[in-house]
Amino acid sequence: MRTYQLIAPAKINLYLEIIGDRPDGYHELVMILQSIILSDRIEIRSNGTQAINLHCNHPLVPLDQTNIAYHAAQLMVDQFPERFANYGGVDITIDKQIPVAAGLAGGSTDGAAVLLGLNLLWELGLTIPQLQQLGEKLGSDVPFCVRGGTAIATGRGEKLDPIQDLDNLWVVLAKYNNLAVSTPWAYQTYKQQFGHTYINDIAGIQSRTSQLHSGSFVQAISDKDGKKIGELLQNDLEKVVLPEYPQVAQLKEVLKQAGGLGTMMSGSGPTVFTLCQSQTEAETIKKTARQKIEDPSLEFWVTQLSSSGISIISEQ
Ligand code: ATP
Repeated sequence: MRTYQLIAPAKINLYLEIIGDRPDGYHELVMILQSIILSDRIEIRSNGTQAINLHCNHPLVPLDQTNIAYHAAQLMVDQFPERFANYGGVDITIDKQIPVAAGLAGGSTDGAAVLLGLNLLWELGLTIPQLQQLGEKLGSDVPFCVRGGTAIATGRGEKLDPIQDLDNLWVVLAKYNNLAVSTPWAYQTYKQQFGHTYINDIAGIQSRTSQLHSGSFVQAISDKDGKKIGELLQNDLEKVVLPEYPQVAQLKEVLKQAGGLGTMMSGSGPTVFTLCQSQTEAETIKKTARQKIEDPSLEFWVTQLSSSGISIISEQ
């Protein structure tokens, strides 16, 4: 039975601006997405049956159709029924290392890994853009996770323009393991409070998008200017999440005071991250923050920015 093992990296948002409303109920976004080394490991193994079986070592990850990895496999079965009939079902095993419901696209990256894994296992020969197009059906972050690296994401996050990769920086992530923020709640609340500022015409949306392309953030990334990148971090969702979750606001403040290039919440949170020049700096910031907040439910990860998306680590 053939088996593929893949690495599925998490992402952080270096920039997240909500610029408008969409008829499909999503929001029009302008983001800069960045892969990090912190990853799940996914094994995809032919099982010689006609079943898709899912296994995961994390108690909070669902094992039914609501799991994005399962949904990805079902999508591939629906799209390529003859391959499924010829090659048979799969066992998908997720070794979950990315914190769950953390604003780090943990589920999306697992879904992207299953698309890539089945593309290999079933010898489909689909290209990255074709896999990204399938990924759009699974979730807004999935197309980015397929390729990874550093990219400007627009639309609801699925339209991607890769930019200069940024892999020279380190990052400290911090999250309370008993805290989750609902992504729909965060966007709905933002709309209630700030909807009046939305741009609702195509020309305005395009102009805002091109401003980001030619603006100082993308320039700082091209220059690999960590200090400038740290200063320019932005996440509009902080405006609704931080007032509602004072623990997250306090965590952000403590991390900021501890040093580094810049501190921001990722996605709809509740993970907060600090960019750093070096591993030593990241470890020092983690230690300082841990001393300031003595709460056993607060977890830290020290990792690096990454230029890779899903990668294959073994094939048998
Ligand atoms: P995003 O940044 O894409 O909004 P997230 O990092 O905030 O995602 P996930 O870790 O993807 O959040 O989990 C969100 C919810 O999705 C979880 O509470 C869980 O119930 C469900 N879920 C479905 N599939 C997975 C998966 N493979 N891994 C983790 N959670 C999953």
